[in-house]
Amino acid sequence: MNVDVTQIQPYPNDELWSPERFSLPPRSCLHHLEPIGIGTSMVESLSSYVTRLAHSHGVFAGILLEKKLKPLINKRYGVATLNKIAHYSKALNGMGIMAEDLVRGLSILTSRQDLSLLTLLHWSNLFPTRQLLRSSRAWCPLCYSEQFQNNKICYEPLLWSLKIVQVCPKHHIFLVSSCPDCGQKNLPLTGRSQPGCCSKCGAWLGNYDEIHRISHPSYLSDLEWELWKGINVGNLLQKSSSRLSFPKQEAIAEALNICVSHFSQGNIALWARQLQVPRNTLWLWCKGKNLPTLQALLKICYCLRISVWDFVHHNLDLSNSTFVPPKLDLKVRSPSQQVNKSSLEMSLKLLLKENREPPMSMEEVARQLGYDRRTIFRHCPELCRLVSAKYIKYQKRTHIQKLDDCCAEVRQAVFDLHTQGKYPSEAKVAQLISRPSFFRYKRVRKALQEARQSL
Ligand SMILES: [Zn+2]
Ligand SMILES: [Zn+2]
Repeated sequence: MNVDVTQIQPYPNDELWSPERFSLPPRSCLHHLEPIGIGTSMVESLSSYVTRLAHSHGVFAGILLEKKLKPLINKRYGVATLNKIAHYSKALNGMGIMAEDLVRGLSILTSRQDLSLLTLLHWSNLFPTRQLLRSSRAWCPLCYSEQFQNNKICYEPLLWSLKIVQVCPKHHIFLVSSCPDCGQKNLPLTGRSQPGCCSKCGAWLGNYDEIHRISHPSYLSDLEWELWKGINVGNLLQKSSSRLSFPKQEAIAEALNICVSHFSQGNIALWARQLQVPRNTLWLWCKGKNLPTLQALLKICYCLRISVWDFVHHNLDLSNSTFVPPKLDLKVRSPSQQVNKSSLEMSLKLLLKENREPPMSMEEVARQLGYDRRTIFRHCPELCRLVSAKYIKYQKRTHIQKLDDCCAEVRQAVFDLHTQGKYPSEAKVAQLISRPSFFRYKRVRKALQEARQSL
């Protein structure tokens, strides 16, 4: 029997069958990579997002911008020409045209509509750009170390890019701005930037060195004030990345006028003296002709014990608030401890002779001896350096051992995959080793290359 196949209707009664074509949602050109920490104080910075996006495609940030952004942002000195603008790359996380261009280009390429939340574009009404962003990277080694140990994605929060933030609000340590290995500073975004690694020598930046904390130039400044700044700026970032609208520019002048009325019965000169700012400066702020910098605003809010967010929203309960002049409060120091220097020296020398594994960090030593770390360092700086050096040497030794073990695992994985007839790609090898994140180290990647060549 001859059957005309064109007349056959497949499953004519099946409701799922539809002769119409399914419409696929549009595909993005680059990975639809999700930013980290949106809606929190630790929201990711746009420069960090660029490096992660580049890494997810297996290229460096410079290549990604050159190949993909350049056709979209056709400017001679735009984000696509990273080698030319690296020294100004702090602006990529800011509130100007460079940040706008990068957000626009990346939104087209990734189909993400939330990338402006990784910049300060939402703050543009409220704060002047002066003194706002750091020209070089700063980081909290303990945050990096925590991300690494918890197998979380390594990234840089936007908080670290703000110049005013000196202390990590989570770990209460000063941010570090020079690589512990090569001692060089890093620009915010360069062609070969990688989160967690030095862009000059590639070293891991999550190693915490106790001596950096004690010898930090700002170590003796008021930690309470530094922490307050970090927490408040984090709070502003949390609000702006939660898409909460920021008030208009006039809000700051209005709030300042409320304070002038309350604390000095409308006398600007009097409150300027209390604030320790020039009278004309405060007058220009109150009239809305100039905007105070974020630093100045934080100082005022700290004196009032009010968060910046509440200040700009006029949630000012001044009836119970007392104005604490900045210098009086910021110079407060904890009472000095009585120290028996010779017994302290003896204890430190004994600790240095001990062969305990792992050796103690200066923080543990201070805790055990019952002194403040600053006090110990002030009295016995050389012995403190030796204790720290011993601790760092141990950390480096164990790190090298871990790298050796990882390289051996890589070689074994390459051999196993090859004998199974599979190509030993980085992704496949990563699935077989215990520390896949170690592919961030040149040595491990080199071991992979050599193992492949030896096949
Ligand atoms: Zn931290
Ligand atoms: Zn370095």
